[in-house]
This record gives sequence, C-alpha cells and structure tokens, in this order.
Amino acid sequence: MSAESTAPAVTMDAIVALAKRRGFVFQSSEIYGGLNGFFDYGPLGSELKKNIRDCWWNDMVRRRDDVVGIESSIIMHPKVWEASGHVAGFTDPLVDCKVSKQRYRADQLFFSPVVVDGQTVGYVSALESEKTAADLQAAAESFKRKKAIQGALAPVAPRDFTEAKPEEIPLIPSPATGEPGSLTEPRAFNMMFETHVGPMRDSSAVAYLRPETAQGMFVDFKNVVDTGRVKLPFGIAQIGKSFRNEITPRNFIFRSREFEQMEMEYFISEDADWDTCHKEWIEWCRQWLISVGLPETHLSLYAHPKEKLAFYSKGTVDIMFRYPFGVQELWGIAARGNYDLTQHANASGKPMEYFDEASKKKFVPHVIEPAVGVDRIFLAVLCAGYAEEDVKDDKGNVEKRTVLRLSPRIAPVKVAVLPLLKNKEALTARAKELYRKLQRRYAVFYDEAGAIGRRYRRQDEIGTPWCVTIDFETIEKDGTFTLRERDSMTQKRITEADLFALLEAQVF
Ligand code: ATP
Repeated sequence: MSAESTAPAVTMDAIVALAKRRGFVFQSSEIYGGLNGFFDYGPLGSELKKNIRDCWWNDMVRRRDDVVGIESSIIMHPKVWEASGHVAGFTDPLVDCKVSKQRYRADQLFFSPVVVDGQTVGYVSALESEKTAADLQAAAESFKRKKAIQGALAPVAPRDFTEAKPEEIPLIPSPATGEPGSLTEPRAFNMMFETHVGPMRDSSAVAYLRPETAQGMFVDFKNVVDTGRVKLPFGIAQIGKSFRNEITPRNFIFRSREFEQMEMEYFISEDADWDTCHKEWIEWCRQWLISVGLPETHLSLYAHPKEKLAFYSKGTVDIMFRYPFGVQELWGIAARGNYDLTQHANASGKPMEYFDEASKKKFVPHVIEPAVGVDRIFLAVLCAGYAEEDVKDDKGNVEKRTVLRLSPRIAPVKVAVLPLLKNKEALTARAKELYRKLQRRYAVFYDEAGAIGRRYRRQDEIGTPWCVTIDFETIEKDGTFTLRERDSMTQKRITEADLFALLEAQVF
C-alpha cells in the first residue's frame, strides 16, 4: 500500500464533522438546540481529553521533583476575586448593535476608512478572521462600486473597534446590518459567571465560578508550604474547569464558556533570575507540546509588547498554534512578579511570606505561570493529525482514507484487536484472550465486524496507532500476530512479548 496526501489544508468543517461522526465532541444539550459556548465530549473525546490531562500531570507533577499538585474548589470566597483584580478588571470590551441586538467584542471587530483619491468617503467593517484585511478590502471595493465613486481606492488600513475615535463610531457600519449608526461605544463587560451560595439570593450571597484555576494555587500557597515539604524553587499545579462568559464563543472548542485549564505556578526567590526561569519554562512547554504530537512547524512564540503588559507583569510569551482559522494562543507563560501573593496577603491579612533557610531571609516569592487550555490542545492535535489521503491497495485500486495521526501518548485507543474472520472460533477466542490481557493496561478495542481493510480504516479515522490481526499463522504456526501500523500502513509479524514491549515504550 502507498499513500498520498490529497488534502490541501485541513478545514474546520472536516474537523467538526469527524468529531461528531466518531463521537469525539458533541454540542452540549443538542436535543434542545444546543447552548452556545458549551460542549460535551463523547466516548472517544473523553478518552483523548483524559490522556492529554494524564500526560501533562505525569510530566508536570509526578516526573518532576519540584512540582506538587492540588485540586481547589471551583467556587471560592468572593474576596479571592476582588483581591486578584477579576471583579474590577476581568473584562472584555463589548459593542452592541442597537438595531440587530448583536453583540461583538470590540477587539474582534475591525474597520477601515474607505479612502478614494486621498478623501475618506465612508467606512467598512469586518469580524476578525484569518483574512480580515482581505474582507475589508473587498468591502471597500464593493462600497466604492455601489456608490459609483470614481478615483483611486487606497489600500484599507484595518484597526480594531477599541481604536475607533468617538467621531468615527457613528460612521462605522454594523457587521450585522451593513449600515452605520447602530454601533455603541465599547464598554467593559465582566466575564465572570455569578451564582449565589446558600439559601439567600441577595448580594451578600454572590459568588463566582472561577474564571481561571490559578488563584487556587495562590490562596493555598501557605497550606502547601506548611504541609508539602517543598522548598523554593517549586511549583503548584492544578487541572480543572474554568468558566468565562465569553462575548463571542467561537471556533468550535477553541473559545468556549466552560473549558478546562492546566496551570502551574512556579515560585522562585525574589532575587532569582526570573528571565532565565521564564525562558526555561517556555521551552519546557514547547517541548511538551511536541511530545504529544504537535508538529514544531505549527508552533511559534509571541512576546506581548511591554506597553500592553499589566503593571506588575515582567513579561508574557504565548506559544501560538497554527489552527485552520489562523495562528492563535495555545499556552501563555507569564512572569507575574509577586503580585498575586501580595494582593492576597493584603486582602486577607495573612502573611504570604516564605522563609529561606539558606539566606535566613523572609520574602514573598515571585512566580512564573504556564497556563494552557486542555480543549485548545485537543483541537490542535485533531487539526494537526487530520489528513485525507488517496491510498493504493496491492491491486493498484485507489481509495480514500481519513487518518488521524495522533501520538500514541494521547490516542484514545492504543491498539485494535482484530480476528481475521468472525466465524472461526479459534481466531476469535485467541483474539479475545489477547484483548482481555491488553485491556488491563491499555485502552484497546475489539472488532470482528466487516472486511479487515474496512476495520483498519475505522481505526485510522479515530487515530488508533496499531491494529493487531489474529490470523491462521497465529493459531497454526508460531503464535505471532500481524501488526499493522497506522501512518505507514506497513504490516509485520510480532510476538505477544514484543507487542507489550512496543506499547510500554510508546504509550506513557
Ligand atoms: P484569549 O486571549 O485567547 O482569550 P487569555 O489570554 O485570556 O486567552 P489566559 O487567561 O491566559 O487566556 O488562559 C490560559 C489558557 O486558557 C489560554 O492560553 C487558553 O489555552 C485557555 N483558555 C482561555 N480562555 C479560553 C476559552 N474561552 N476557551 C478555551 N480555552 C481557553
């Protein structure tokens, strides 16, 4: 067999369709029409997600001597969010269209003046996408044509709506209606979900679903220091759900309202070399993404410009991933100084200092924070792994196969066990025996239905790295199986011991 990739670039439509078809991701509450920004993970999706979490936890916590884990509650004391700055400042700029009642994030709504022969003759707008500038240019050309304006059209100069001058706002058309005059000035919209704790519904009972897991690590800092036998530098890590009432959830699971984060706070001495430590964590995170199968070519770094950083921040670098809808943030690595611990010390009145035995000094540690979303990694591995190929069988017939090249570390099914024929008891009995044995350690799948080629294709599509076929050679000759490899589609004979050794080496 040989394979040729026929697909140009992977599209989100193909990913969403596969995710639904094979039970990776469903719309939440689908039978009621869905709820925007919420998703469910199906049988294969929940396995894939768990594997991503487990890999991270193993590498970040268990295999390191300097990081410990916690699990803090989702609803915390509301004062946590006052001290952290979220109550006052966890906002996105919101713009309303008064006519259509649509709402937009101002920094995702772009506009440009339409300039003909040096004169501004109107404005055009477009929502952020991977081709915002081209959309604006096309809109400007269409504007000029419709208004029958003669002269040379200047290239558009895109700005986002937060940069619009007050006098420009009434002139910018709403993306919903195409007409100017209905967009409001941007206002701050707090993204925290509110709830009430206890039987009272008044303001004294207001609490929030956490918008990030990080504050759990700061609030528990003293508890961990006092009980965890940790010494600087050390990290506290956590995996858990976070909630943000995003104005415009979009791009499937990339930006949702309920999502899962994997965050770690790495505490360092006040006079440690934070810059080197920051760089080391950026590289650690990058290598980790490569270790779960993301191609290096799809990753890049984005350093936030100094003038856009919060006053306490020393630097933030995002690891970006090339999604089908553009290059977007996957993992943020922030050097946050000692801002968070200091804020909580001031607000709670409880000291957050660390006593350093060696120097006999007391200080509030500084922190490096790598923060990543499980769902964004999930989407990245699907996008990077997906391919549609023309494959030739031994007779030269061409057929299509859809393949998901997932790393064995995270693939939802590691091995499919296939008896060559369904109605040969000796084959199925041996296959089931092997299946039961593998199942004790790995996620495996048993399939006896249909032609063997079709069964291979089904596994290719869900990213199973290997299939083992139990055939007549197995039962009549030497006990070996046929091992078929997903990516190369090559087949070879393998013993049971070697199969276990292969899995031990590749699945970890
Ligand atoms: P963005 O700029 O994309 O809104 P952010 O900078 O606000 O993200 P952080 O607060 O740094 O994100 O959160 C850390 C990580 O959590 C992000 O890098 C991302 O992987 C993930 N994340 C944040 N918001 C969402 C969301 N709405 N849906 C899914 N994952 C998210």
